[in-house]
Amino acid sequence: MHQPALTHVSVRQTYSRTDGVHANKPNRKGRLVGQRVNQLLFLALHATPLALFYIEINLLDWALCAGLYGLRMFGVTAGYHRYFSHRAFRTGRFFQFCLAVLAQSAAQKGVLWWAANHRRHHAASDTIHDVHSPVQRGFWYAHLGWWFGNDHNKTDLSLVKDFSAYPELRWLDRYHVLPFLGLALITFWIGGWSGLVVGFLLSTLLLFHATLAINSIGHMWGGRRFSTRDASRNNPVLALLTLGEGWHNNHHYFPSAARQGFHPLEIDVTYVVLRFLALTGLVYDLKPLPDRIMRDMRAPHSGNPAAL
Ligand SMILES: [Zn+2]
Ligand SMILES: [Zn+2]
Repeated sequence: MHQPALTHVSVRQTYSRTDGVHANKPNRKGRLVGQRVNQLLFLALHATPLALFYIEINLLDWALCAGLYGLRMFGVTAGYHRYFSHRAFRTGRFFQFCLAVLAQSAAQKGVLWWAANHRRHHAASDTIHDVHSPVQRGFWYAHLGWWFGNDHNKTDLSLVKDFSAYPELRWLDRYHVLPFLGLALITFWIGGWSGLVVGFLLSTLLLFHATLAINSIGHMWGGRRFSTRDASRNNPVLALLTLGEGWHNNHHYFPSAARQGFHPLEIDVTYVVLRFLALTGLVYDLKPLPDRIMRDMRAPHSGNPAAL
């Protein structure tokens, strides 16, 4: 069986070496203020469904909602996750910055913060060192608690040395709400108050829970093609909602691949879009699956971990 790049042993070494090394700015007080603002925004966002009863909604609002959900989900999956966390493909410095801006317009904190915590997750999946394991701390902690609390609001730059070397990314990470606020203004300009509430805020809320469901549901409910050392699952419903991220057991088995749907029937919209972008030259070197896994996916017994 193929071993992921970081094993549990190497993870602990990484931890003991880097734990407590948080070179981020601003300082502790600044971080706490930032976290309080995040928490308040987070609570306010959950009042959005109530506002739907008090405003007049038109077709443009729903179109904005669907469009901004899809576009920003791609920012989360292709940007935060496959590129900044796993380097599953390559791109130029300008498009790298664009991906970071798009990802951060989803209001899921800075791109360096996201990638650092996600690398931790893979390094220690479902062990006591995992950032958000439902196996260790239950569904609600994995879904919301780790995000909402103060335990993980630091960015361990030692885990993202590759990207923290770019000053523009460090700047964007520090002022991570700017893309979110900018997109809010644009949506308001296009759709007015109803556009802002339905098109922007509601899609942000849906995006938020769909993304976090990978950490909770994606480690609890679904099939397991590969006997990985974590509890990751393949969940087709989650895969549809998250443009391919629901094939989470596949992903934990081979995290650096650009695709997460390994079988032709496992719909992975993010990968399809990346393939299209590769035709334009905006992205390149999409990391493939090893031939051995591809052969097994085509075999009649694909899905049987024993065959792998
Ligand atoms: Zn996971
Ligand atoms: Zn991942």
